[in-house]
Amino acid sequence: MTNYPRLLAPLDLGFTTLKNRVLMGSMHTNLEETKDWNRVAEFYAARARGGVGLMVTGGMAPNREGGVFPGAAGLFSEADIANHRIVTDRVHEAGGKICMQILHAGRYAYGPECVSASAIKSPISPFPPKELDEEGIEKQINDIVTSAARAREAGYDGVEIMGSEGYFLNQFLVTHTNKRTDRWGGSYENRMRLPVEVVRRVREAVGPEFILIYRLSMIDLVPNGSTWDEVVMLAKAVEKAGTTIINTGIGWHEARIPTIATSVPRRAFAWVTKKLMGEVSIPVITSNRINNPQTAEDVLSDGCADMVSMARPFLADPDFVAKAEAGQADLIAPCIACNQACLDHTFQGKISSCLVNPRACFETELVVTKAAAPLRVAVVGAGPAGLAAALTASERGHNVTLLDRAKEVGGQLNMARRIPGKEEFDGLVDYFAASLAAWDVDLRLGVEATAQALKGFDKVIIATGVIPRDPGIEGQGGPNVLSYTDVLRGGAPVGKRVAVIGAGGIGFDVAEFLVTGESPTENLAEWLEEWGVADPSDARGGVSPEGPRPEAPVRQVTLLQRKAEKPGRRLGKTTGWIHRATLQMKGVKMIGGVNYERIDASGLHVSFGEARENPTLIEADTIVLCAGQLPERSLADALIADGIEPIVIGGADVAAELDAKRAIDQGTRVAAAL
Ligand code: NAP
Ligand code: SF4
Repeated sequence: MTNYPRLLAPLDLGFTTLKNRVLMGSMHTNLEETKDWNRVAEFYAARARGGVGLMVTGGMAPNREGGVFPGAAGLFSEADIANHRIVTDRVHEAGGKICMQILHAGRYAYGPECVSASAIKSPISPFPPKELDEEGIEKQINDIVTSAARAREAGYDGVEIMGSEGYFLNQFLVTHTNKRTDRWGGSYENRMRLPVEVVRRVREAVGPEFILIYRLSMIDLVPNGSTWDEVVMLAKAVEKAGTTIINTGIGWHEARIPTIATSVPRRAFAWVTKKLMGEVSIPVITSNRINNPQTAEDVLSDGCADMVSMARPFLADPDFVAKAEAGQADLIAPCIACNQACLDHTFQGKISSCLVNPRACFETELVVTKAAAPLRVAVVGAGPAGLAAALTASERGHNVTLLDRAKEVGGQLNMARRIPGKEEFDGLVDYFAASLAAWDVDLRLGVEATAQALKGFDKVIIATGVIPRDPGIEGQGGPNVLSYTDVLRGGAPVGKRVAVIGAGGIGFDVAEFLVTGESPTENLAEWLEEWGVADPSDARGGVSPEGPRPEAPVRQVTLLQRKAEKPGRRLGKTTGWIHRATLQMKGVKMIGGVNYERIDASGLHVSFGEARENPTLIEADTIVLCAGQLPERSLADALIADGIEPIVIGGADVAAELDAKRAIDQGTRVAAAL
């Protein structure tokens, strides 16, 4: 009996067979834009070697006006075709299969040349699109078809036509963005003419033996989105027009409902794909928030789909499938759906990587080789920086001892995992613990490392982390004042009315912890209700007419900062809005521009502005300090005084703007260079 029998079963497409039911979904990594084709090829080849059944590239623009941003990559010339050939050859040598995604962004294209069904600007772009005329539409179809033909020439096994997420083809489908009265607008038959025509003409151009995936928006999550009947009608029409596989798209980019963030429950939208099963006779793929083989297997055994798409999990671990096959699921580095190193990077124009795997997209640069001579390495601190350093050093063949005074590994991750919506951190800590055992790291927990005890090692890496910053507020020694560590680690009792001092990542986390009863991330029905997601058979686009219906907050929380800007402005680019919206739904009051005057039994006294005007009492039973952090360097300093030069990493090195992404990246790089 194999592990995950459904997930690892082959899928026969008639003219070709996929070795398993795992699709690596499209991700825009900005790698193609580097024009370093060896690097691009190695990224995909690593995933092919890891056993994934089929991969889809990041979105390639069919023409300049359809590119997501100016200069977006595409197959525009013979040279482009030759470059992509480097990628497809390398993938095929590694035993993989790869499709190229054709992505026309329509009104989401970040440039003044953008085009769409109607001249309606999107809320997430400053550029109003030009309404296409008949000739313009014909040009777009031709460009997409040409792109598909070139993909075939470049050696791809197929193409994915991006028809979801609110991009160009999706914009023709719904009246929200299509106000046309010609044969491309009005009735649904007219509105779906463009996607169906695109599929038909692409099939005509590429011939029968070429995979054609159509990514279909099954729940738009925007007002006036498609009805379920329309979704089914489109699915049947694209099947008839020549689609090989239908992939699921969930939500437009402008939707104000989270679809992939860590607080979205696992497999939260598989039920939507399931509704399409039986309506078409071609394979159907489901996606979104599926990040481990068991969840993927369950989705298939529940009849939700024929195949499962996972994208970010392949940044976290290129060997996802191989490890699943080998019964080593506990050694799969899990994608925690944080977006911190992937989508946040993409939207900042940086190359994507992965918080848990800094080698993702840096395969040719951050190379972990076997060490010429094994060293005795001590790592102090089993938080993310120390864990990454210890594992990488072990992987290189060094003899590693990892010490921590705590009784468990994980460091600050153990606080993060207590936050509602951050349950994925559990899996990350478990993965680290399993990997330490697999790599034979000598783990010593509950041990206070001393300078004396570290003398016999060749290298000492200090990853002792951070200590909370003392904000020095009058009255903070009172019994009603707690540190975030007391709340998240110590389980200290907290009153009903709370003032949180500091609105950084931890202040937001603590506020979320304090207002939430049971985590909706653990309860799909509650989560859907909380965000106002309805069955698309009952409400257009799956947007509930009643709107979001969050559970009542369990405490009344005020979140404060001294900066006069909007609290939460500096949170993650693609996830900050979710944290702000969650707290707003729970009635958290957010106040910026305060001076902390004093704390007494009645609460927190603040004033405003340089002149310390408008004295105000924030009535509170408990005040929680989340005022940032400072490096914990006492052991590093003691070692230096003793003549040992340690390598200091993570928060012990620089506490400002520390997060697990920087900690793991630094730990990995330091150990790779030992
Ligand atoms: P932080 O993000 O730097 O925030 C510190 C907060 O304390 C700020 O709101 C700051 O605002 C306030 N502060 C600073 N000095 C103060 C003082 N002397 N007195 C009173 N208030 C003071 O740090 P953090 O919240 O401790 O988080 C640590 C790191 O973990 C951050 O880099 C964060 O990004 C990361 N993290 C990320 C997430 C995430 O979801 N991505 C979650 C948790 C933590 P004012 O100076 O304006 O008062
Ligand atoms: Fe997943 Fe976060 Fe890595 Fe992105 S950065 S792939 S969301 S773990």
